[in-house]
Amino acid sequence: MSTVTDYFGSLVFDDRVMKASLSAKVYNSLKKTIDEGERLDNQVADAVAQAMKDWAISHGATHFTHWFQPLTGVTAEKHDSFISPSPDGSVIMEFSGKELLQGEPDASSFPSGGLRATFEARGYTAWDPTSYAFIKGKTLCIPTAFCSYGGEALDKKTPLLRSMQALNKQAMRILKLFGNEDVKCVRTSVGPEQEYFLVTREMFDKRPDLIYTGRTLFGSKPPKGQEMDDHYFGVIKPKVLEYMTDLNDELWKLGILAKTQHNEVAPAQHELAPIYGTTNIATDHNQLTMEIMQKVAVKHGLVCLLHEKPFAGVNGSGKHNNWSIATDTGVNLLTPGETPYENAQFLLFLCSVIKAVDDYQDLLRLSVATAGNDHRLGANEAPPAVVSIFLGDELTAILEAIENDTPYNAAEKTLLKLGVHVLPKFPRDTTDRNRTSPFAFTGNKFEFRMLGSSNSIACANIMLNTAVAESLKQYADILEGCDNFDETLHKVIQDTIKEHKRIIFNGNGYDDEWINEATTNRGLLNYKTTPDCMPHLLDEKNVELLTSHKVFSVPELNSRCEIMLDNYNKAVNIEAQTMVSMVRKSILSAIDAFASDVASTLASKQAVVPGIKSAYETTLITRLSELIDEIDTNTLKLEEVIAEIKTNDNVVAISETIRDTVLPLMETIRAAVDEAEEKTDKDYWPYPSYGELLFSVR
Ligand code: ADP
Ligand code: MG
Repeated sequence: MSTVTDYFGSLVFDDRVMKASLSAKVYNSLKKTIDEGERLDNQVADAVAQAMKDWAISHGATHFTHWFQPLTGVTAEKHDSFISPSPDGSVIMEFSGKELLQGEPDASSFPSGGLRATFEARGYTAWDPTSYAFIKGKTLCIPTAFCSYGGEALDKKTPLLRSMQALNKQAMRILKLFGNEDVKCVRTSVGPEQEYFLVTREMFDKRPDLIYTGRTLFGSKPPKGQEMDDHYFGVIKPKVLEYMTDLNDELWKLGILAKTQHNEVAPAQHELAPIYGTTNIATDHNQLTMEIMQKVAVKHGLVCLLHEKPFAGVNGSGKHNNWSIATDTGVNLLTPGETPYENAQFLLFLCSVIKAVDDYQDLLRLSVATAGNDHRLGANEAPPAVVSIFLGDELTAILEAIENDTPYNAAEKTLLKLGVHVLPKFPRDTTDRNRTSPFAFTGNKFEFRMLGSSNSIACANIMLNTAVAESLKQYADILEGCDNFDETLHKVIQDTIKEHKRIIFNGNGYDDEWINEATTNRGLLNYKTTPDCMPHLLDEKNVELLTSHKVFSVPELNSRCEIMLDNYNKAVNIEAQTMVSMVRKSILSAIDAFASDVASTLASKQAVVPGIKSAYETTLITRLSELIDEIDTNTLKLEEVIAEIKTNDNVVAISETIRDTVLPLMETIRAAVDEAEEKTDKDYWPYPSYGELLFSVR
């Protein structure tokens, strides 16, 4: 049996394969492109394509595809085979540098938010050489960016790469000021912890809501939920372990560093965390991970649910985006250093994040906004919709000392002066972890915990990188050419703390009192839903930020705002229609059938004993009839609103109707149906119960 080290990355055209299959000249030139973003000339591209094709064919591939991330949220691919006809009737396998560099998928049905009229529907994909090509099934997949012919980004990768560039540029200015001459570039790294649910295929197939929307639209609470806390880190069930083992193998073959797996809080909920990597690669890997998770589940007779809130009343699934900034020389800029200067540099980078998160709370909030995640944020299981930063007591005390020019602790007589004192190490102490904060410092990185489990991590990192780039830019503008570096630096840090300390909160983020304090006293934003936050993408300050760092153009921003709202509208619309169909086709008739059988029982009892009271049957029939009417009336209303939405083409107006009318109606219908489910004999109920769904995997 081969070991992990033998097959890790076996399906990836990685550095090992490149070195072995390319001439030194081609390899060096490709490396330059990968590391320093240099343009690849056509001859080199041809040589790389040739090697890639030979390698892929030797691994059983017959096709290639440009693999990209359109704004639908999932990845897209269009397979072309390598075959090319020969005059003698046979085929040869061909793949050119041109095909590697650029593709032209028929892009007309990908969302473009008006960037690309259908008559000029062509878009093109362009190779991202920094993310390795890989084989999936029989297809060589080439990670690419996806743009319109006018050059506007139609995907998530393009702006992500631009945001990494923006951060690199500004961080390099700062590092120069601190005398880091050897650093060539700065990159952000991400380790996304992925949560998910597993249910059996058999149960899943019986639930149209899961099939069409990824979440249950109905379901009364099971007798046992997550109140015992016996699932979190509990023993993993054999069937789940088989799944995880298989999943790890598949991910490892693709060079994905799957590292940690454990049960989560809710029954049937689990987590997978990889070892962190460069942001754009981590993003590709997370997309791939989500895809493989679903595929492997099918092989095991399971379905992997990535929805943020598959079950009401049960914890939803998130994705923690662990984020840090590091130099190519291997220095994590969010780690306190060994010398006073390194510490000062650390504090400046720390401040850049504090300032960024405060200045652009709205962008961070909207970067995680989806119909699914709206159910999770602020639901007592995930951070609230209010963005704040957890720093821990020690770091907060240090910042306070700097802010007020007071000694850092009572024992210390001297004031903490930057560039003079060495900061204490901040241990990555588990007792000091705050799991209720949306944005927590964890010793050497920040953990952005608001992302939903099905979200691409691209959007959150685009906003984070750009916002931090802006802080650094403002700092560099002040520090470059100042007369007294140490003093100016001290002032910059002090000013940042004074101006932005409102965003720092070390307490319980799930507490209602905090929301009150945050919004009334601190003036922090609280955008509860996608329609509340998304239009702020186009606020002047946000447009200024994103265009000045060349991450988005104005047309790109307009189109994204429209697409994100449209995605929200469509998702909820599908849910509403599924709900109507389940109610009309199965639920009402099931309740009716049961009520009518109870009525027959009552009638037959009364035939034997005339005048018998039978309060049980009478009360039950009465309540079920009331519920039936309530469900029917509200479903009629829902149908009317759905019809009305169809006649509207203003995405903002539709999203508001959905928030204010559709979702509340759905809640009302659901409450009545769930009550009816509790009262109805299970043999009559058309769908598996929550208990069956949550406890079916053994
Ligand atoms: P938690 O205690 O939050 O569950 P885990 O150890 O499960 O933490 O996951 C932490 C994640 O953070 C992992 O994906 C890990 O690789 C990642 N991580 C660790 N260090 C860094 C770093 N410097 N930058 C980005 N991510 C990091
Ligand atoms: Mg975590």
